[in-house]
Amino acid sequence: MNAIHLLPLGGTSTVLVEALSGHLRQTFRTRVEMHAFSLDPERFFDAGRGQYNSTDLLMHLKSHYPALEQGPGVCTLALVPFDLFIPILTYVFGEAEVGGNVAVVSYHRLSPERYGLPPDNALLLARFVKEVVHELGHVFSLIHCSAQSCVMHSSSYVEEIDLKEQSFCRACASELGLRY
Ligand SMILES: [Zn+2]
Ligand SMILES: [Zn+2]
Repeated sequence: MNAIHLLPLGGTSTVLVEALSGHLRQTFRTRVEMHAFSLDPERFFDAGRGQYNSTDLLMHLKSHYPALEQGPGVCTLALVPFDLFIPILTYVFGEAEVGGNVAVVSYHRLSPERYGLPPDNALLLARFVKEVVHELGHVFSLIHCSAQSCVMHSSSYVEEIDLKEQSFCRACASELGLRY
């Protein structure tokens, strides 16, 4: 990996993104930059579903990607506070172009308040870090991992996110050329 470019969109909390950047630098040992990017998310809004089309957002990022940085091992990652979907699923936490250079992650469904529990910023950040590391793993060509604790284990519910670690298992880490 050579660089990760973060694009907080749609009023995403910059405090959350700054905390996230630290984790990403540590995990991927690469340059992480945050950019102010003006993009009206309403163009990805599906009024019928009341959600935002994750694939359309990815494709839009991809067509604008050369403006940020070109080259191998570079990822542009959009971070959003609103609910994402792909047509075949009720919702997604995020989506990535496997082996490509774009990804998007939403924290809409990651806060404990959403499930009637008291606010817990540490838990919200931990879940966000896991989902972001997971999608970046896909961008850097990893597929889902059967190890329960590996960040590349697939999660459909927050409870499943809570069961895995923020890091890659040995096999996934070595695939990425990272040594723990
Ligand atoms: Zn996945
Ligand atoms: Zn793994």
